[in-house]
Amino acid sequence: MHTKLFIPGPVDVREDVLEKMSTPQIGHRTKDASNLQRGISEKMQKLLYTKEMVLLSTSSGSGLMEGAIRSCTLKRAAVFSIGAFGKKWYNIGISNGVQVDLYEREMGQAMDPNMIDEALKTGKYDLITVTHNETSTGVANPLEEIAEVVKNYPDVIFCVDMVSSAGGHKIKVDELGIDIAITSAQKCLGLPAGIAVCTFSQKAIERAEKVENRGYYFDLLNLYKCILKRDYQYPSTPTLPHMFALDYQLDYILNVEGLENRFERHLQMANIVRNWAEDKFELFADKNHLSRTVTTIKNTRNISVADLNNELKKRGMMISNGYGDLKEKTFRIAHMADKQPQEIEELLDNINDILKI
Ligand SMILES: *Cc1c(COP(=O)(O)O)cnc(C)c1O
Repeated sequence: MHTKLFIPGPVDVREDVLEKMSTPQIGHRTKDASNLQRGISEKMQKLLYTKEMVLLSTSSGSGLMEGAIRSCTLKRAAVFSIGAFGKKWYNIGISNGVQVDLYEREMGQAMDPNMIDEALKTGKYDLITVTHNETSTGVANPLEEIAEVVKNYPDVIFCVDMVSSAGGHKIKVDELGIDIAITSAQKCLGLPAGIAVCTFSQKAIERAEKVENRGYYFDLLNLYKCILKRDYQYPSTPTLPHMFALDYQLDYILNVEGLENRFERHLQMANIVRNWAEDKFELFADKNHLSRTVTTIKNTRNISVADLNNELKKRGMMISNGYGDLKEKTFRIAHMADKQPQEIEELLDNINDILKI
């Protein structure tokens, strides 16, 4: 029996999307490959509300996080972290030899835009990273307010990890002045892991031109230049199976479900889980900044989350324990990609039944 995944990635993938992955291979230097890749980039531009170039990467999202911070930091980067995935940027920077400082807030809180302003006022930084949707704590950062601050610093490259929100939460990349927006396939887009996507603004391109050691595989400037030179083809052999599936899924998202309906469905599912959590447990995150794609719940009843998941598994379902230090102290229910509100209700009914609450 298939175990339905209510975890924040990988998510369940619709059968028809999975089938697209077994499309027969094509040559990656053919016109068909160019058309496929150009089509995906153009559809992703709609999903991310951007006119800037969209790059595809045969990797998960972390690869593009590495590419962004390494390819575009000339002086020093500032990482603004509100949880485990925020901190990941810092570790990536350090291990790539990038000069980088970490600014953190307490788990469960959103980033304070003033903290970003204070840091940028020092003039030390020419790149910043922000996590839009912190998957460990269930907090969605106030991107609009943060963007208002960052706009006052035109020399700063603004990188945003929207791995667990793009496609589930409306984010207008260009309006917010985001230079590099990153996402992965296995979260709200509803594909298996293995392809990642980022935007790459003109400003980011100009910055990368000045950076010497951009690495090789995740050198964003090299990806960009290759696309220009070879009509949307990439330097290395890309994951064509994901591309067939992503192209198909983007048509579904844009033309069958519709973006507004998709965002609305995510909020509807979030509201179901939030109401249940407030009724039976407590929300972990600051109520003013709740994620629309994953809810982190405080384990106020001191249940064994591991036991709960074992029982759920017998019923063909799975949720997530808390992340890292938050294990057993919290648990997480993801409501993203192609899950339907009715499936969320079913999950919660089963949890109520198991816990007799
Ligand atoms: C899942 C996740 C990542 C890591 O992405 P991968 O595709 O697994 O490399 C980064 N940031 C956030 C917010 C995530 O949820």
